[in-house]
Amino acid sequence: MNMEQHHKVSIWYFIIGVWVVLILQNYLASTYAIKTIPYSQFVQKLKQGDIVEISITERQIQGSMKSETASDQKTPFRTVRVDPDTSELLDKYQVKYSATIESTFFRDLFSWIVPVLLFVGVWFFLMKRLSAQQPGFMSLGKNKAKVHKQEDVDVSFEDVAGVDEAVAELVEVIDFLKNPDKYLEFGASLPKGLLLVGPPGTGKTLLAQAVAGESHVPFYSISGSEFVELFVGMGAARVRDLFEQAKANAPCIIFIDEMDALGKARGFGGVGGHDEREQTLNQLLVEMDGFDPNVGVVLMAATNRPEVLDPALLRPGRFDRQVLVDRPDKQGRIAILQVHLKKIQKLGDIDVEELANMTPGMVGADLASLVNEATLLAVRNRKKIVEKENFEEAVERIIAGLEKKNRLINPKERKIVAYHELGHALVALSLPGTDPVKKITIVPRGIAALGYTLQVPIEDRFLMTKTELLGKISSLLGGRAAEEMIFKDISTGAHNDLAKATDIARSMVTEYGMSKKAGQVYYKSEPQAMFLQQGLNRNARGEYSDETARIIDQEVRNIIDDQYTIALKLLDEKKDILEEAAVELLEKEKIDGSYLEELIRQKETEG
Ligand code: ADP
Ligand code: MG
Ligand code: ZN
Repeated sequence: MNMEQHHKVSIWYFIIGVWVVLILQNYLASTYAIKTIPYSQFVQKLKQGDIVEISITERQIQGSMKSETASDQKTPFRTVRVDPDTSELLDKYQVKYSATIESTFFRDLFSWIVPVLLFVGVWFFLMKRLSAQQPGFMSLGKNKAKVHKQEDVDVSFEDVAGVDEAVAELVEVIDFLKNPDKYLEFGASLPKGLLLVGPPGTGKTLLAQAVAGESHVPFYSISGSEFVELFVGMGAARVRDLFEQAKANAPCIIFIDEMDALGKARGFGGVGGHDEREQTLNQLLVEMDGFDPNVGVVLMAATNRPEVLDPALLRPGRFDRQVLVDRPDKQGRIAILQVHLKKIQKLGDIDVEELANMTPGMVGADLASLVNEATLLAVRNRKKIVEKENFEEAVERIIAGLEKKNRLINPKERKIVAYHELGHALVALSLPGTDPVKKITIVPRGIAALGYTLQVPIEDRFLMTKTELLGKISSLLGGRAAEEMIFKDISTGAHNDLAKATDIARSMVTEYGMSKKAGQVYYKSEPQAMFLQQGLNRNARGEYSDETARIIDQEVRNIIDDQYTIALKLLDEKKDILEEAAVELLEKEKIDGSYLEELIRQKETEG
């Protein structure tokens, strides 16, 4: 049962409670319908001898008197005691009387104890609500941030597939945990913190567990999001506790999952309430600084939003090694599917490659649930084994789910991305002085890019010629040029390319003196402190006239336009190569630059 439901149930208890009290009060009042009579009337009745018996308390007299209608019946009555010497009067008229100590238990219970309890209850309930909505407001719930300790983690690298690059980086860590002496002898120390970065569901948590499983050391994990509901000061205590426990049990691994919940840059969106997170974060920084990785404690963390992390966390000596856990390409998806298919006992004849083809853009978690869904469907349809059609139906379901969450690129977009990336690559390969193309991929990378073309310079460069800069601009524009040529339409996918190209062109004109019209003049102004500009001309440029500004803009524009035309022309000449490579790229999702070079060479010898 989750918290939300729990609250709903308890508000019903309160409502029913109030209702019951009201009914009871009503009931009591009507059954004990006691007539209250004035004291004077009581004395009069007493004198008449109509009073049968009474009991006296400090403040009132209760009793019964002869009924006015039928003399053999008694009517209960009550009156407020006015005269303190009632007993004399009673003696005089010989009425049976007794004194009782007033028991106010039931009256008190219903008149104020229960209502007060109810109010307290409602108050608690509201507070809980408030603190759930506004973490840190007041935490009454039991604190959730627990250090989870696992002695023998039952996960190995065999369970994690398709993230070979990340695994390769982590192998060293495992070796260190297994034979720390080997490293210490050489005086080598490991990086203090390893940050696993990658989109959700790519297997970051799984990888961290696998590191623990492979190195057979205890695994202390804690999740950043669990700190959110803590009392101020608790989080910091937890962190201290975590490090202390770990140090005492070295060699071991500390893993902080969902680091972004905890490590968000301080002073962000700050209307109070963030004290707790800040304190916890500070404590973490303190612990990291005062800790020596050579004691055999490896600190790992995972996040899918590295950009929101406090820069202090990423400084050298803290999480200074980042391991990218990226979305799998087709080969990776095949490997991941195989890991999960292995768990199915009754598996029909499944073509894993075909399955991988149907699932572009999916991550490990999606593929795991795909396999699970297919198994469930087989069971639901009373199949003996899990068949191909179960998988096909499962793919459809998962895709529908992911599309709703906007996490999947549709086939049309994939095609655009493929041509766009090939546009960059082909232009780059055809122009002199551009960096060689290493690989081209349409697997979405990291968080923003839909695909990318990796160009690696052959050597470190300190100078660039005008030809090279122009070539760079052309290849940046090649993506959009390819889109325009093939689809007769352009997309928003190029905005980053345009920004970079424009930047280079502007620098050429204003800094490097590479434009005839603008001349060999340095136009760039040094950046000025913001406060000096306030109220002044905000667009403070360098020391040049409006006329020059116009010329600069014109020249930048000309460079871009010219290079775009060049890119278009180049691509037009190589259209058949572009088409052929696009088919390959859409199929494989990732191709090497050498493949493209080979293709160009082939076409040249042919024609
Ligand atoms: P993350 O922490 O990156 O969000 P998880 O490690 O929690 O992702 O992955 C969730 C589940 O998805 C895992 O338990 C596993 O079943 C599956 N999974 C994710 N990535 C992989 C992978 N690379 N290989 C195999 N299974 C994976
Ligand atoms: Mg995770
Ligand atoms: Zn691009």
